[in-house]
Amino acid sequence: MIKTEDIYLRSPIYFQKILFNIYAHKITGQKSQKDFHIKLRELEKYQCYSFSDLKALQLERLKIMVNHCYDNVPFYGKLFDEIKLKPSEIRNLEDLHRIPVLTRNQVKNNLSLLTAKNIPKNQRLTRNTSGTIGSPMFFFVDRKSYPINRAYTWRYWNWAGFNYDDKRVTLQGRRIINLERTKPPFWMYNKWDKQLCFSTYHLSEELLPYYVEKLFEFAPQAIDAYPSAVYVLAKYMEDNNMTHKMKAVFTSSETLYPIQREVVENVFQCKIFDKYGLSEMFFVATECEEHEGLHLNMEYAITQVLNEQDEPVAPGTKGRIVCTGLENFSMPLIRYDTGDTGEILPNKCPCGRNFSLMAPVTTKVEDQILTPDKRYISGSLLTFPFKPMKNIIKSQIVQDDIQHIKIKIVKNNSYNNEDSKKLLEGLHKCLGNNMKVTLEFVDNIKRTKNGKYRWVISNIHRKMDFRKDNI
Ligand SMILES: [Zn+2]
Repeated sequence: MIKTEDIYLRSPIYFQKILFNIYAHKITGQKSQKDFHIKLRELEKYQCYSFSDLKALQLERLKIMVNHCYDNVPFYGKLFDEIKLKPSEIRNLEDLHRIPVLTRNQVKNNLSLLTAKNIPKNQRLTRNTSGTIGSPMFFFVDRKSYPINRAYTWRYWNWAGFNYDDKRVTLQGRRIINLERTKPPFWMYNKWDKQLCFSTYHLSEELLPYYVEKLFEFAPQAIDAYPSAVYVLAKYMEDNNMTHKMKAVFTSSETLYPIQREVVENVFQCKIFDKYGLSEMFFVATECEEHEGLHLNMEYAITQVLNEQDEPVAPGTKGRIVCTGLENFSMPLIRYDTGDTGEILPNKCPCGRNFSLMAPVTTKVEDQILTPDKRYISGSLLTFPFKPMKNIIKSQIVQDDIQHIKIKIVKNNSYNNEDSKKLLEGLHKCLGNNMKVTLEFVDNIKRTKNGKYRWVISNIHRKMDFRKDNI
């Protein structure tokens, strides 16, 4: 079957421009705009709430969600009966702990049982996670989630001083230009949203000059991007002594490494505002203008940090991030294990908003390398041996077994044996001498189907998933 996306990608550029703007108008159209403004006003009100009022709001929303789950979602109807929980027994936020943690595998295996029966098919949309290394996971979202997500987005963008009159460049996963294209344009302009979408799939050294030229011509006030994609652009500009001042760079969807933040902020002479969320739990936390951490969007989800016994840990302690969605009724996720580790911060943000703060999530379970002596080394730490490596254009670390990692390297013409020696030395300092490290030189490192790029891929943690996956 030929997909709409394939027809679009095979069309001539002038026709693609028309199709692109028809699609863009459809999702930012009149009805959607009205819902968006209503939601945004609501969210602006909540950001002035006291902490106790935010907690009360969470409880009110949780009660609605739990009742909905019991009445309409077969998975939860059965589960609540088994654990002898009546929705009316959820009287405070602590009672949420009576509901077991939901794993990603449970969601994958119970798609139809987790789908609300009272929401007509035409009122929900199918989405999937990127499935960076595993298979993708399908899930449903409410049709009205678009204006809702847009409102959360704009509240967060407003924190950076970015407003409706401003232009932005987007560097994210959507395939907007055929991969075989070798001449500009590598972008599409969405006139309804003052948004220039750059293709994330053509960011090669050869084609980057076209991107930079277009960037200067368009003169955006912000870029919203995957960290790895905006980093490629910024690194190229840094290497060529170019800067472009903007209000903000918004990053999301991948781990943002300190080295990426440093280069991007220098080149674009502004701060990065990071967002933490998943495809299936989109707006967990967003960074404000004080950059003291990421604010939990407390109206959107109840975010808990748990230890291995599924008990909450105190603020300032690391644990597994588990979220309960409060906005999506088509496929509710209660105490959903995100697979990420993080921590709630004990401090209050000087910006005056009372949403709790969380530390940036830099330690995705699958972003860590496990050493033969059972140490977990985070991707952030592994960036250090690469910092002095001027002759490496791109790299990726892959671990398939505990004794061995493979480093994929795209090198430039000046790369030599001395570079390999220096890199191996640095890596052994992080990983110990018992870890076998192999360097593999490649022409390119592919992004996933959704255009994401993962710097560290550990395939061994998935095999070590010891959580119970059946109720
Ligand atoms: Zn703040």
